[in-house]
Amino acid sequence: MNSSCVFLAALAVFLLVPTGVALSADQAPVSDGPARLTILYDNTTAREGVQGDWGFACLIEGMGKTILFDTGTKPEILLANLQALKVDLGQVDVIVISHLHGDHTGGLLAALEKRPGVALYVPSAIVSVPESAYERGRVPSLARLSRPDTKIIQVDGPVEVCPGVRLTGQIVGPNLIPEVALLLETRSGGTLVTGCAHPGVVLMTRRAAALRGKPVEAVIGGFHLNQTPETEVRSIIADMKAAGVVRCGATHCTGDAAIAQFRAAFGTDYIPLGVGRVIDF
Ligand SMILES: [Zn+2]
Ligand SMILES: [Zn+2]
Repeated sequence: MNSSCVFLAALAVFLLVPTGVALSADQAPVSDGPARLTILYDNTTAREGVQGDWGFACLIEGMGKTILFDTGTKPEILLANLQALKVDLGQVDVIVISHLHGDHTGGLLAALEKRPGVALYVPSAIVSVPESAYERGRVPSLARLSRPDTKIIQVDGPVEVCPGVRLTGQIVGPNLIPEVALLLETRSGGTLVTGCAHPGVVLMTRRAAALRGKPVEAVIGGFHLNQTPETEVRSIIADMKAAGVVRCGATHCTGDAAIAQFRAAFGTDYIPLGVGRVIDF
């Protein structure tokens, strides 16, 4: 673990600024209309005419607000994929950054230039880190990635973005990288969307279930298992199923071998991802 990770972890534990609206488990707003999730940036592609690259970004529509979740690595690839998929960032109401790594924040400034003044939710640990810490590590500075007119909302505890959309709050797992996941309440049930799931996808799933007061039906995103032994991935899958997860889509930093394990374990309930994939709820 490098020094910036340790520093961030210390900040996450000791210096969190309480922000947002805390929600109890009995509050479970549901969007009862059609909702759609489109993968905009991913390591792989699901259709012609788009580019795959290490990183993650997706768009959520139909939940009352249009949400851009993460922004990928390279602005030029994000913009090219947006154009190919005919997605206009001018329609985005909210941008959420899951965690501070460059493969989730790289396209942020480009996105903000397309949609100035948008609300930007970020883990509070990002905001709390002094500039000197960024210079020591490979962590991007939010001051450099955002614009003066950006409305930055620090996420500490669980927050409601709009009816049917909540953020889990900042979760810190054993590897001490603070991360926020998106929890959607759709017609198909609770869906958790993760960036890299650095705190551990099982921990994040359990936190989301605790927030709902019942299991999360689907988990989608990067699970960061590309270095994880097969036996450990098997037990992670078992834990997710035991937690009540019925459908699953693993991508980005999950790694090809682990993705194959998830695909096999969930069978027809596996959700293939990749740039251009559209999931209707
Ligand atoms: Zn990451
Ligand atoms: Zn990542």
